[in-house]
Amino acid sequence: MTKQEVIFTNSYNYLNPYEYLKVFSSPDWYLKLKPLLQEYFYDYKGGEEKAHTSDDWLGFRNEFVLLVSELLDKNLIALAQSGPDMDEEREPIEIIVIHHSSRPPNTPLQIINALGLIRLYAPVFSKSSSDVYGQPIWSNHFYNGKPTFIAYHYLIENNGTVRHVLKDNQIGWHAGDWEVNKKSIAICFLDELDEEVPTKVALNSAREIIRKYKNVKVLGHREVNPKTRCPGDKFLGVNGWKKELLTD
Ligand SMILES: [Zn+2]
Repeated sequence: MTKQEVIFTNSYNYLNPYEYLKVFSSPDWYLKLKPLLQEYFYDYKGGEEKAHTSDDWLGFRNEFVLLVSELLDKNLIALAQSGPDMDEEREPIEIIVIHHSSRPPNTPLQIINALGLIRLYAPVFSKSSSDVYGQPIWSNHFYNGKPTFIAYHYLIENNGTVRHVLKDNQIGWHAGDWEVNKKSIAICFLDELDEEVPTKVALNSAREIIRKYKNVKVLGHREVNPKTRCPGDKFLGVNGWKKELLTD
Protein backbone atom coordinates (compact mmCIF):
# COMPACT_ATOMS: atom_id res chain seq x y z
CA MET A 1 0.00 0.00 0.00
CA THR A 2 1.44 3.36 -0.90
CA LYS A 3 1.39 6.36 1.35
CA GLN A 4 -1.28 8.11 -0.71
CA GLU A 5 -3.73 5.23 -0.30
CA VAL A 6 -3.78 5.32 3.50
CA ILE A 7 -6.48 7.45 5.06
CA PHE A 8 -6.29 7.82 8.81
CA THR A 9 -9.56 7.77 10.71
CA ASN A 10 -8.25 9.53 13.81
CA SER A 11 -6.89 13.05 13.77
CA TYR A 12 -3.40 13.61 15.09
CA ASN A 13 -1.94 16.81 16.52
CA TYR A 14 1.28 15.67 18.16
CA LEU A 15 2.59 13.47 15.36
CA ASN A 16 2.32 13.03 11.62
CA PRO A 17 1.01 9.48 11.12
CA TYR A 18 2.36 9.29 7.54
CA GLU A 19 5.90 9.66 8.86
CA TYR A 20 5.56 6.33 10.67
CA LEU A 21 4.25 4.18 7.81
CA LYS A 22 7.67 3.20 6.51
CA VAL A 23 9.19 2.28 9.86
CA PHE A 24 6.19 0.13 10.85
CA SER A 25 6.44 -1.77 7.57
CA SER A 26 9.83 -3.08 8.68
CA PRO A 27 9.70 -6.36 10.69
CA ASP A 28 12.08 -4.93 13.32
CA TRP A 29 10.19 -1.64 13.66
CA TYR A 30 10.45 -1.88 17.46
CA LEU A 31 14.28 -1.80 17.22
CA LYS A 32 14.19 1.19 14.88
CA LEU A 33 11.81 2.95 17.28
CA LYS A 34 13.66 1.90 20.42
CA PRO A 35 14.67 5.42 21.58
CA LEU A 36 11.07 6.59 21.22
CA LEU A 37 9.66 3.52 22.95
CA GLN A 38 12.13 3.88 25.81
CA GLU A 39 11.29 7.54 26.21
CA TYR A 40 7.56 6.90 26.40
CA PHE A 41 7.02 3.30 27.50
CA TYR A 42 9.88 1.01 28.35
CA ASP A 43 10.52 1.84 31.94
CA TYR A 44 7.03 0.45 32.54
CA LYS A 45 7.52 -2.05 35.34
CA GLY A 46 4.72 -4.12 36.79
CA GLY A 47 1.86 -1.70 36.50
CA GLU A 48 3.04 1.81 37.29
CA GLU A 49 3.01 4.23 34.40
CA LYS A 50 6.07 6.31 33.70
CA ALA A 51 5.36 9.69 35.30
CA HIS A 52 4.72 12.21 32.59
CA THR A 53 6.72 15.38 32.49
CA SER A 54 4.39 17.61 30.48
CA ASP A 55 1.10 17.75 28.64
CA ASP A 56 3.03 17.48 25.38
CA TRP A 57 4.70 14.31 26.57
CA LEU A 58 1.36 12.79 27.52
CA GLY A 59 -0.30 14.09 24.34
CA PHE A 60 2.32 12.48 22.14
CA ARG A 61 2.22 9.24 24.13
CA ASN A 62 -1.58 8.93 23.83
CA GLU A 63 -1.48 9.68 20.11
CA PHE A 64 1.27 7.17 19.54
CA VAL A 65 -0.83 4.46 21.20
CA LEU A 66 -3.80 5.53 19.05
CA LEU A 67 -1.61 5.39 15.94
CA VAL A 68 -0.42 1.86 16.77
CA SER A 69 -4.03 0.77 17.35
CA GLU A 70 -5.09 2.24 14.00
CA LEU A 71 -2.15 0.71 12.14
CA LEU A 72 -2.92 -2.68 13.70
CA ASP A 73 -6.52 -2.39 12.52
CA LYS A 74 -5.32 -1.54 9.01
CA ASN A 75 -2.74 -4.37 9.00
CA LEU A 76 0.04 -1.80 8.49
CA ILE A 77 2.41 -3.07 11.18
CA ALA A 78 4.82 -5.80 10.11
CA LEU A 79 4.17 -8.86 12.29
CA ALA A 80 5.08 -12.53 11.99
CA GLN A 81 2.66 -14.70 10.04
CA SER A 82 3.63 -17.77 12.02
CA GLY A 83 5.96 -18.62 14.84
CA PRO A 84 6.72 -20.82 17.82
CA ASP A 85 4.13 -22.10 20.25
CA MET A 86 4.37 -19.46 22.96
CA ASP A 87 2.04 -21.49 25.17
CA GLU A 88 4.00 -24.72 25.41
CA GLU A 89 4.84 -24.06 29.07
CA ARG A 90 1.18 -23.74 30.03
CA GLU A 91 0.36 -25.44 33.35
CA PRO A 92 -2.94 -26.29 35.05
CA ILE A 93 -4.72 -23.14 36.26
CA GLU A 94 -4.14 -22.51 39.97
CA ILE A 95 -4.57 -18.75 40.20
CA ILE A 96 -6.96 -16.10 38.91
CA VAL A 97 -5.21 -12.72 38.89
CA ILE A 98 -7.41 -9.60 39.05
CA HIS A 99 -6.31 -6.43 37.21
CA HIS A 100 -7.67 -3.06 36.21
CA SER A 101 -6.76 -1.43 32.91
CA SER A 102 -5.81 1.82 34.67
CA ARG A 103 -7.36 3.67 31.73
CA PRO A 104 -10.57 5.67 31.41
CA PRO A 105 -13.67 3.43 31.69
CA ASN A 106 -14.42 1.25 28.67
CA THR A 107 -11.22 2.08 26.79
CA PRO A 108 -11.55 0.20 23.46
CA LEU A 109 -9.90 -3.19 23.19
CA GLN A 110 -7.85 -1.91 20.23
CA ILE A 111 -6.08 0.47 22.62
CA ILE A 112 -5.45 -2.28 25.17
CA ASN A 113 -4.12 -4.39 22.30
CA ALA A 114 -1.77 -1.62 21.12
CA LEU A 115 -0.51 -1.13 24.67
CA GLY A 116 0.16 -4.87 24.97
CA LEU A 117 2.18 -4.85 21.75
CA ILE A 118 4.18 -1.78 22.79
CA ARG A 119 4.70 -2.46 26.48
CA LEU A 120 4.83 -6.25 26.73
CA TYR A 121 5.88 -7.78 23.41
CA ALA A 122 8.21 -5.11 21.96
CA PRO A 123 10.52 -5.11 25.02
CA VAL A 124 10.86 -8.91 24.96
CA PHE A 125 11.68 -8.95 21.22
CA SER A 126 14.14 -6.05 21.82
CA LYS A 127 16.19 -7.86 24.43
CA SER A 128 19.47 -8.87 22.78
CA SER A 129 19.72 -11.98 24.99
CA SER A 130 16.30 -13.23 23.88
CA ASP A 131 15.72 -16.07 21.38
CA VAL A 132 13.30 -13.85 19.50
CA TYR A 133 15.53 -10.74 19.35
CA GLY A 134 14.95 -8.81 16.13
CA GLN A 135 12.32 -11.28 14.86
CA PRO A 136 8.93 -10.12 13.61
CA ILE A 137 6.63 -10.03 16.62
CA TRP A 138 4.41 -13.04 17.15
CA SER A 139 2.03 -13.73 20.03
CA ASN A 140 0.51 -17.04 18.93
CA HIS A 141 -2.83 -15.55 20.06
CA PHE A 142 -5.72 -14.42 17.88
CA TYR A 143 -8.92 -12.59 18.70
CA ASN A 144 -11.67 -12.12 16.10
CA GLY A 145 -9.30 -13.54 13.52
CA LYS A 146 -6.48 -11.05 14.12
CA PRO A 147 -3.25 -11.32 16.12
CA THR A 148 -3.77 -10.10 19.65
CA PHE A 149 -1.27 -8.82 22.21
CA ILE A 150 -3.79 -8.46 25.01
CA ALA A 151 -2.44 -10.12 28.14
CA TYR A 152 -5.80 -10.84 29.80
CA HIS A 153 -8.15 -13.77 29.40
CA TYR A 154 -11.27 -11.80 30.28
CA LEU A 155 -11.91 -8.05 30.09
CA ILE A 156 -14.99 -6.60 31.76
CA GLU A 157 -16.66 -3.35 30.80
CA ASN A 158 -18.44 -1.20 33.37
CA ASN A 159 -21.83 -2.34 32.05
CA GLY A 160 -20.88 -5.95 32.82
CA THR A 161 -20.09 -6.98 29.23
CA VAL A 162 -17.37 -9.62 29.14
CA ARG A 163 -14.79 -9.88 26.33
CA HIS A 164 -13.25 -13.34 26.36
CA VAL A 165 -9.91 -12.80 24.59
CA LEU A 166 -7.49 -15.55 25.63
CA LYS A 167 -8.38 -19.21 26.04
CA ASP A 168 -7.53 -21.19 29.14
CA ASN A 169 -4.70 -22.99 27.36
CA GLN A 170 -3.03 -19.70 26.42
CA ILE A 171 -0.49 -17.89 28.59
CA GLY A 172 -1.27 -14.22 29.17
CA TRP A 173 1.70 -11.95 29.84
CA HIS A 174 -0.10 -10.13 32.62
CA ALA A 175 1.47 -10.70 36.04
CA GLY A 176 5.02 -9.55 35.39
CA ASP A 177 6.06 -13.01 36.62
CA TRP A 178 6.38 -15.91 34.17
CA GLU A 179 5.88 -18.59 36.84
CA VAL A 180 2.55 -16.99 37.76
CA ASN A 181 1.57 -16.42 34.12
CA LYS A 182 2.10 -20.10 33.29
CA LYS A 183 -0.51 -21.26 35.82
CA SER A 184 -2.98 -18.40 35.91
CA ILE A 185 -5.72 -16.67 34.03
CA ALA A 186 -6.24 -12.90 34.19
CA ILE A 187 -9.45 -10.93 34.61
CA CYS A 188 -9.15 -7.21 33.87
CA PHE A 189 -11.69 -4.53 34.74
CA LEU A 190 -11.71 -1.93 31.96
CA ASP A 191 -11.60 0.96 34.38
CA GLU A 192 -9.35 3.18 36.46
CA LEU A 193 -9.68 1.74 39.97
CA ASP A 194 -6.71 3.24 41.83
CA GLU A 195 -9.15 4.88 44.27
CA GLU A 196 -12.43 3.38 43.05
CA VAL A 197 -14.40 0.15 43.19
CA PRO A 198 -15.80 -1.65 40.11
CA THR A 199 -19.45 -1.22 39.19
CA LYS A 200 -21.87 -3.78 40.67
CA VAL A 201 -22.58 -5.37 37.29
CA ALA A 202 -18.89 -5.63 36.47
CA LEU A 203 -18.32 -7.33 39.82
CA ASN A 204 -21.17 -9.73 39.08
CA SER A 205 -19.65 -10.64 35.73
CA ALA A 206 -16.27 -11.30 37.34
CA ARG A 207 -17.89 -13.44 40.02
CA GLU A 208 -19.61 -15.55 37.37
CA ILE A 209 -16.29 -16.19 35.64
CA ILE A 210 -14.56 -17.06 38.91
CA ARG A 211 -17.30 -19.55 39.79
CA LYS A 212 -16.47 -21.62 36.74
CA TYR A 213 -13.02 -22.43 38.10
CA LYS A 214 -12.65 -24.90 40.94
CA ASN A 215 -9.77 -25.00 43.42
CA VAL A 216 -8.16 -21.78 42.31
CA LYS A 217 -6.78 -18.90 44.34
CA VAL A 218 -8.04 -15.41 43.51
CA LEU A 219 -5.32 -12.80 43.90
CA GLY A 220 -4.98 -9.16 42.99
CA HIS A 221 -2.07 -8.25 40.74
CA ARG A 222 -0.57 -6.39 43.73
CA GLU A 223 -0.59 -9.61 45.73
CA VAL A 224 1.64 -11.36 43.21
CA ASN A 225 3.72 -8.29 42.40
CA PRO A 226 4.10 -5.79 45.26
CA LYS A 227 5.53 -3.16 42.88
CA THR A 228 2.09 -2.42 41.46
CA ARG A 229 -1.07 -0.85 42.93
CA CYS A 230 -3.20 -2.82 40.44
CA PRO A 231 -6.15 -3.43 40.77
CA GLY A 232 -6.29 -0.39 43.07
CA ASP A 233 -6.15 0.54 46.72
CA LYS A 234 -9.69 -0.59 47.55
CA PHE A 235 -9.17 -4.21 46.54
CA LEU A 236 -7.75 -5.55 49.81
CA GLY A 237 -8.64 -4.91 53.43
CA VAL A 238 -11.66 -5.55 55.63
CA ASN A 239 -14.04 -3.76 53.26
CA GLY A 240 -12.10 -4.53 50.11
CA TRP A 241 -13.97 -5.53 46.96
CA LYS A 242 -11.95 -8.74 46.76
CA LYS A 243 -14.45 -10.13 49.29
CA GLU A 244 -17.35 -9.44 46.94
CA LEU A 245 -15.65 -11.50 44.26
CA LEU A 246 -15.47 -14.48 46.56
CA THR A 247 -19.00 -14.53 47.98
CA ASP A 248 -21.53 -16.87 46.40
ZN1 LIG B 1 -2.45 -5.52 36.73
